[in-house]
Amino acid sequence: MKALTVIPLKAGSAELSDVGDPPESDGPILVETLAVGICGTDIEIVTGAYGWPPPGRERLVLGHESLGRVLEAPAGGPVTKGDLVVGIVRRPDPVPCANCAVLEWDFCRNGLYTERGIKEHDGYLSERYRITPDFVVKVDPALGILGVLLEPTSVVAKAWEEVDRIGGRAHWVPKTVLVTGAGPIGLLAALLGVQRGLDVHVIDQMSDGVKPVLVRDLGATYHTGSIADAVPGGPDVIIECTGVSSLVLDAMSHVGTGGVVCLTGVSSGGHAIEIDEGALNRSMVLENVAVVGSVNANRRHYETAAAALARADPSWLARVVSRRVPLERWQEALNRSPDDVKVIIEVNPQ
Ligand code: BGC
Repeated sequence: MKALTVIPLKAGSAELSDVGDPPESDGPILVETLAVGICGTDIEIVTGAYGWPPPGRERLVLGHESLGRVLEAPAGGPVTKGDLVVGIVRRPDPVPCANCAVLEWDFCRNGLYTERGIKEHDGYLSERYRITPDFVVKVDPALGILGVLLEPTSVVAKAWEEVDRIGGRAHWVPKTVLVTGAGPIGLLAALLGVQRGLDVHVIDQMSDGVKPVLVRDLGATYHTGSIADAVPGGPDVIIECTGVSSLVLDAMSHVGTGGVVCLTGVSSGGHAIEIDEGALNRSMVLENVAVVGSVNANRRHYETAAAALARADPSWLARVVSRRVPLERWQEALNRSPDDVKVIIEVNPQ
């Protein structure tokens, strides 16, 4: 079967390879891949900046934002033939650490976890894959192809859970949230904010195109200026989805008193900027500001995300999936254009 593979840490090594059938060792459930979303992590892997091959191998099958249809599944399990499913990305470390032992692999303590399509375990960007019942999540069939948004939504469902838990350290009735970045993660974070009944603001650089329209159609407010101008006095919550250092620092300085900043964007590193650390420390201490980093998602977050997508307006979600590229033309999916939101590769178009 065909699979999009890459030699991790080697730029320009991505190719459509002929690989063997999915190994039985990956699990008893056989899934036909319908589509796979492309995100910043995939771009980092194909440009040679990130990723790990499976032990003893040179190439890794790419793809962690999946949607597939079950072809074969053991009787009495959580899924049956024909179900639309998404594969969870991370697998617990084999030790296991205290967190992986209780299935909170998104908080793995020893870094020995694996991730499909990213770290030491083949991904889902192949015509078929195998998986075990505990790592497959059923998607509302009404979502169809839009179920491909489940994995990125699970990442923001986890971020919101972090915000809620940290906010709950004191009396917590948040009203405003500011999201930095109107890419897929930012838009999905905003969607979850709107579903919570919050006053949602989104900042991005683009002054026209599809992003401002998507934000407004959610019932949220779009801004292109600074955080301070967008929400004078500071929002209760900031979900940072860009990883841009200046915005990260701005978020920490301009969240409201007692507010929570959740960082979800991965910075590339290597950019030094000058800051007045004393002033930042002073405002964070005197205003009880909490800053938390958040990555990955466990099964609970996927389930929350599946419920959130099922409640969302499908015509809005359909515009978040802004471009669909057939597997044979995979290169086009990796070349981003300014109006792209979520680009997906259709592996077995339905
Ligand atoms: C994925 C996460 C993963 C992270 C780090 C993200 O793109 O969505 O599941 O943990 O990359 O590898």
